[in-house]
Amino acid sequence: MINPKMYELGSRRSVIREIFEYGKLRKQEVGEDKVYDFSIGNPSVEAPAAVAERVKELLEVNPSTLVHGYTSAQGDPKARQAIADDLNNRFGTSFTGSNVYLTCGAAASLTISLRSVIDSENQNVMVFAPFFTEYRVFIESMGASIQVVPASFPKLDLNLDAFENMINDKTVAVILNSPNNPTGVVYSEEQIMRLAEILNRKSAEFGHPIYIISDEPYREITYGCVPPFITKYYANSLICYSYSKGLSLPGERIGYILVPDVMPEWQNMYAAVCGAGRSLGFICAPTMFQHVITKCAPLTSDLSKYAANRDLIYNGLTELGYECVRPDGAFYLFVKCLEDDANAFCMRARKYDLLLVPSDDFGCPGYVRIAYCVSADTIKNSMPAFKALAESYK
Ligand code: PLP
Repeated sequence: MINPKMYELGSRRSVIREIFEYGKLRKQEVGEDKVYDFSIGNPSVEAPAAVAERVKELLEVNPSTLVHGYTSAQGDPKARQAIADDLNNRFGTSFTGSNVYLTCGAAASLTISLRSVIDSENQNVMVFAPFFTEYRVFIESMGASIQVVPASFPKLDLNLDAFENMINDKTVAVILNSPNNPTGVVYSEEQIMRLAEILNRKSAEFGHPIYIISDEPYREITYGCVPPFITKYYANSLICYSYSKGLSLPGERIGYILVPDVMPEWQNMYAAVCGAGRSLGFICAPTMFQHVITKCAPLTSDLSKYAANRDLIYNGLTELGYECVRPDGAFYLFVKCLEDDANAFCMRARKYDLLLVPSDDFGCPGYVRIAYCVSADTIKNSMPAFKALAESYK
């Protein structure tokens, strides 16, 4: 029998993918530059030249089995150590390669982390709305239930009062995502400290640890702030990282899980991470890009372009009267729709060839997500369309 849940997941495309595919067809009809596609978070800034140089160097290695062969399941020791060194240099921590497990990007980091802590159907994992849509798929596929903490208006930061009321003895973890997709909000140190205090208190009350699974693919993409490094505030944290966004390598599927040495029993958790990776069929992360990371872990692409885009789109849209929180990171803007139904708003936006993502699946209806990892010209040229869209509501 075909698994009906998997059939449903596979046959119903994500809203984002559906809009992205529509955009490709529409561009063929009316021309690339006439469609303002803000649907997908595909980095638009090139990876630094050092990545290509390293790939060329690796292609010359003899025998080639060294760069195309398996590494150990947790990753090549040099790549793991390079990641630990990079974190230690930036955050004053003292990790070693033994704390790092290489993965096929943040999605794999998340599923492996969830598999490491969920072991029964009665358990739940909490997320803060608005949240990255795939969290629901990942959590439910592990057999746990998702508890969505309602959004906190107007700042779209952490709704910690609601969180404290909702957390219960079946909660095994909470997913944190800062800088956030879809809002671009970076959670403050004060909020992280309060979250840690609640989690410590509730872990003691319920008699089991409640983990933070910190999803950080946008950690380096910030505009004038540094997101608090979570392991310094809460020991029972798993850090899920990916080189998809900051280093512009989403297609190479490379990232890691950090199991920090401050976590009590971190060696056992590391073993569980290895077990979860094994049970999910991850043999090792792509070897060639592990070796790229050995050299390039501290690098990023030229992120200043996203900062310029942030200003262009935020200033442009607020001048036209749209309401949104000014993002401090990532490359998304979360904009209030001009009617209650975000799907209807997006369909109307399509008439102006503006491709926006409705917020319902992010757990916060009435908004759209704009992925501004596009060219500056796309943003500039889209402004008359946004203006016409706003005027159509007057
Ligand atoms: N988490 C968030 C918040 C994301 O936005 C994404 C991708 O867009 C992922 C995880 C998955 O990242 P990766 O492509 O590295 O698997």
